[in-house]
Amino acid sequence: MNLIFLGAPGAGKGTQAEIICQKLGIPQISTGNIIRAALKNGTEMGLKAKSFIEAGKLVPDDVVIGIIKERLLEEDCNKGFILDGFPRTIPQAEALGKMGVEIDKVIDIEVSDESVVARMSGRRVCKACGASYHIVNKPSKVEGVCDACGGETAIRSDDSPETVMDRLKVYHEQTEPLKDYYEKLNKLFMVEGSAEINEITASILKALEA
Ligand code: AMP
Repeated sequence: MNLIFLGAPGAGKGTQAEIICQKLGIPQISTGNIIRAALKNGTEMGLKAKSFIEAGKLVPDDVVIGIIKERLLEEDCNKGFILDGFPRTIPQAEALGKMGVEIDKVIDIEVSDESVVARMSGRRVCKACGASYHIVNKPSKVEGVCDACGGETAIRSDDSPETVMDRLKVYHEQTEPLKDYYEKLNKLFMVEGSAEINEITASILKALEA
């Protein structure tokens, strides 16, 4: 299954993508994680993306489209994948079509702006592998230490309250129109994202069976 997880920053796309990918045995492709890794490694792409990511703005379409194009050519994508955080603009969605990528379903995780702001303040991310935690909803077993790789977890620099407000604005202006785009293609499935993690997973699995 080729899936897209859509939703505001902090809606739980990454958390749910991780769970569903494990269940289905397909890779989770997070453009955010790929860009953060490039930033950390000081690659040319990382340097290009730095100022945008830090300001809560979208990295230019050509950069992220290039990332996805390359990633989808890897063999582990043959059985399907979940795109987590891509597309975020209409041109990005159109680029998928031009690449000949057929999307089966788009899962839209809905949360209010208020709960996004509240959630982001508790988010912690592993500096080494990018795994995501929340101090209340999804704590790591040992505080400050990643369950997956033992790396150090920390607050993401773009999760500061001011940057979160900017990211929400960007989401409403540039990403939310994708709901209409995929609705018209009969691919959009909306799930309520303010429930407990396992309840949201159950709603997604139900949508995938529909
Ligand atoms: P995320 O981890 O998905 O919240 O993404 C973090 C940041 O990476 C975003 O605020 C953007 O600056 C950048 N980013 C991730 N995915 C995209 C995308 N599809 N298009 C443009 N920028 C992106």
